[in-house]
Amino acid sequence: MATERTFSIIKPDATRRNLTGKINAVLEAAGLRIVAQKRIQMTQAQAESFYGVHAARPFFRDLVSFMISGPVVVQVLEGDNAVARNRDVMGATNPSSAAEGTIRKLFAENIEANSVHGSDSAENAATEMAFFFAATEIVG
Ligand code: ADP
Ligand code: MG
Repeated sequence: MATERTFSIIKPDATRRNLTGKINAVLEAAGLRIVAQKRIQMTQAQAESFYGVHAARPFFRDLVSFMISGPVVVQVLEGDNAVARNRDVMGATNPSSAAEGTIRKLFAENIEANSVHGSDSAENAATEMAFFFAATEIVG
């Protein structure tokens, strides 16, 4: 298996409930290493750009408002097949469909306030981590 990196966000619903450490423990137990991490307040422009692929979706405005409603923790995760491994441990977008033991099953409030973001491909992971981190901030 190839070691790779993926990009992750602990969303405002989770930082509000003080769940950063609990979510990080699930990530680490799944074999992912947190090789970069910072807590930030996203701007509206950042959130609109980051979720630009969803601009035409009916939930876009609400999603942007939610993502700037409080601090987030942006992260780079490293491990074997990190992109797929993180998607597995995150669980389905809608927590009511998420598998037992996944972060969204354990912690998410609803389909929007679903506690975590994770890149869906290696290509998007590279773009997303470069959006928030300088190469010197990622230390494997
Ligand atoms: P994922 O985060 O699982 O990759 P998507 O990329 O499809 O899911 O959607 C991005 C984010 O938009 C979701 O994590 C969630 O916060 C929000 N979202 C997705 N679908 C809906 C929906 N039907 N209603 C409200 N918010 C949604
Ligand atoms: Mg997605």
